[in-house]
Amino acid sequence: MSNIPSFSNTEVAFKSKSTIELKFTRLIFKLMGSPGLVNILTDLTTFALKMRLPVQWIIKKTIFKQFCGGEKINECTGTYELLKKNNIEAILDYSVEGQSLESDFDYVRDELLQLIVNAKKYAKVPTTCLKITGIANFSILEKVSANSQLSEAEKHEYNQVIKRLDSICKKAFDNDVEIYIDAEETWIQVAIDRLAEVMMQKYNGKVAIVFTTLQMYRHDRLEYLQGLIKKTTKQNFVLGAKIVRGAYLEKENERAKNNGYSTPMQPNKSATDNDYNSALKLMVDNIEKVELCAGTHNEDSAKLLCKLMADKGLENSYRGIFFSQLYGMSDNISFNLAHSGYNVSKYLPYGPVRDTLPYLIRRARENTSIAGQMGRELALITKELSRRKAQPTIN
Ligand SMILES: Cc1cc2nc3c(=O)[nH]c(=O)nc-3n(C[C@H](O)[C@H](O)[C@H](O)COP(=O)(O)OP(=O)(O)OC[C@H]3O[C@@H](n4cnc5c(N)ncnc54)[C@H](O)[C@@H]3O)c2cc1C
Repeated sequence: MSNIPSFSNTEVAFKSKSTIELKFTRLIFKLMGSPGLVNILTDLTTFALKMRLPVQWIIKKTIFKQFCGGEKINECTGTYELLKKNNIEAILDYSVEGQSLESDFDYVRDELLQLIVNAKKYAKVPTTCLKITGIANFSILEKVSANSQLSEAEKHEYNQVIKRLDSICKKAFDNDVEIYIDAEETWIQVAIDRLAEVMMQKYNGKVAIVFTTLQMYRHDRLEYLQGLIKKTTKQNFVLGAKIVRGAYLEKENERAKNNGYSTPMQPNKSATDNDYNSALKLMVDNIEKVELCAGTHNEDSAKLLCKLMADKGLENSYRGIFFSQLYGMSDNISFNLAHSGYNVSKYLPYGPVRDTLPYLIRRARENTSIAGQMGRELALITKELSRRKAQPTIN
């Protein structure tokens, strides 16, 4: 297991950050460490934005700065270059959610078409990502997922969604750019899964262009993954799968409780961990038929994947496997993996401050609620700051 990197080398982990930047990150994580404070700030911010109070500048200088690259693509250039210099691919993520107008959905489609062109031009392994709710109304996805009868107008609306998605995937295919379709709430995910499967069938061949996402906090996803591997093998194309634990746990449990159905979530964290790790194993066992993106900040899962690759005789830089983290989180994993030659990417969200708020709230809540994660980030930053203090000439 000697080739499994250590994630506690803070010199490698934070080499792209100045001491001032590290102190800023420490402050943000300290603030997020208090669930009460996160809840109050979330409510206040949402209220202030609704009332059109001028609070965007403070969000932009704090939590937005920690987790986003900028408001426009060109504001991300510095971060993009810095990651690239450290052998980390940035996956630009136009992080606008909760739109409802057709013109907004067309705008997101056009932004994605531009992102694909940019990725092709600048990235070594060009990749982009997409939330279907960025190009489709939530309610139409909900209706399709529930197999409800659509009116003629709704059928037309849904056809427009398919057309938007198809134009994005076609552009990705024409430019040889990978596209990750994100997973969202379970009550719209049936539609998203179907759309992703159709696009994979159309655009994946010997390599994967379109990737679907599986959230392993769902108790039914390991079985779904097994079925997908069988199906795509039979249909003779490579399955692209991003494996994550899932970001909507509280919302899912709450909805199930309020609506009186049994939760689609795993009974506990260790059940999620077990299925996550089993999914990684299943993917590596079938590596000639699949391509994998492991989207995780969990050190044990990242180490497990390194071990599975080594056991299978795959090089660290094997092209069909990527490790991926979110920008602003777990640099100790990203930078140490990249330093050891693994393929690493980071989602780099951007968009107007107001529109990225749902994303930022998820990140704040995630960092508050993940047992151990916050302490780990803070301990690593503190360790690095002490190391720098002891060796002032290095920085
Ligand atoms: C590159 C990338 C892409 C992503 N794309 C998506 C996406 O498309 N869709 C999406 O939903 N999320 C996505 N995420 C977010 C991801 O789901 C969260 O970051 C992730 O859940 C955090 O888990 P972790 O693997 O980092 O591990 P950990 O920090 O070890 O696990 C935390 C997670 O475990 C699960 N969990 C916690 N408590 C319990 C419990 N009591 N019972 C059951 N499960 C529990 C939850 O999913 C929680 O988020 C993405 C993340 C990355 C890095």
